Amino acid sequence: MSKPLKSYSIEELSNLFKEAGLPSFRVNQILEWVYAKGVNTYEDMTNIPKTMREQLGFAYLLTMATIDERLVSVDGSRKYLLRFHDGVVVETVGLPSKDGRLTVCCSSQAGCAMGCSFCATGRNGLVRDLAPGEIVDQLLVVQDDFGTRVTNVVIMGQGEPFANYDNLLAALRIMNHPKLLNIGARHITVSTCGLIAGIEKFAGEPEQFTLAVSLHAARQEVRDTIMPAMQNQRLGALRQSLEHYSSATGRRYSFEYALMKGVNDAEEDLDALITYCRRLLCHVNLIPLNEIEGMPMLPSGQETTRMWFDALEEEGIPVSVRRSRGADIFGACGQLANARRG
Ligand code: SAH
Ligand code: SF4
Repeated sequence: MSKPLKSYSIEELSNLFKEAGLPSFRVNQILEWVYAKGVNTYEDMTNIPKTMREQLGFAYLLTMATIDERLVSVDGSRKYLLRFHDGVVVETVGLPSKDGRLTVCCSSQAGCAMGCSFCATGRNGLVRDLAPGEIVDQLLVVQDDFGTRVTNVVIMGQGEPFANYDNLLAALRIMNHPKLLNIGARHITVSTCGLIAGIEKFAGEPEQFTLAVSLHAARQEVRDTIMPAMQNQRLGALRQSLEHYSSATGRRYSFEYALMKGVNDAEEDLDALITYCRRLLCHVNLIPLNEIEGMPMLPSGQETTRMWFDALEEEGIPVSVRRSRGADIFGACGQLANARRG
């Protein structure tokens, strides 16, 4: 069977077309049909000669994600369960704002191999990596459903983006391309659980993509318990890679910290976080933990959150508390796919 067109990066496709003797403007035309106009059959590509369309049809399977389930929250956000051509499903969220922005929370893998104890996605393991075009398809579906352009992207759905680095970067470049989705690099945020090799590589990319790091604990023994796959990505080495990241790019990144009662919210955890953040070009995002069925962790109380916020602010560390959206439609990471699997 032919390989899906959406499994290639822009560069790979350009090379393949060149080898096949096709002029480079044809690659641009086809990419625009697929990623700017969201067309999913070759027949619809009216400016491509018929014989070439047939040739393409034999060489590259053209696929499109379909909506398996769609849930609308009272706050306007929409959560989708999307199905790819081989039956694999992922979740995607569309988050509209009053000022006209439309943010998509995108998955980078189906499932996740990292097994963080507080995360529903991690509980079921990795199914497979997503191809570049499958990451982008999520934007196309949300854009089509809302009838407006996607302005912002957060790679915070299922999966660990830096465990699928090349496909992720290929997808980000399609999103960022001025003739394709034209989303500003600074409006695209990648969240990693802290894969150091990925952070190092990301620091060297020419685009100004935004970085977020799921820290969740600044004490090694606590982090080892809740994020077991990070035991070989030590906090000290992570900090060094982030120092390098901001000196190489001049950019600030954020730390995500989900406060869990009695797990990572003691005073010594706060002290460790303050010490960790000192002199870093970071921003701390305190996240209310989403409760997941069958998991023992509970979110910290509002007073604790307030106390942490005040203490960090007093230390001059930029901090915010993330508002949870879509709680009524299983807003938390991994919850929808999980609920359906039963
Ligand atoms: N794998 C990447 C990106 C996907 S998860 C990462 O871990 O960064 C997106 C964010 O949701 C991460 O910060 C993750 O730690 C957080 N998250 C996972 N489960 C959560 C839960 N139950 N409550 C709140 N945040 C959660
Ligand atoms: Fe994977 Fe991120 Fe969930 Fe950890 S928090 S299991 S890295 S998706």
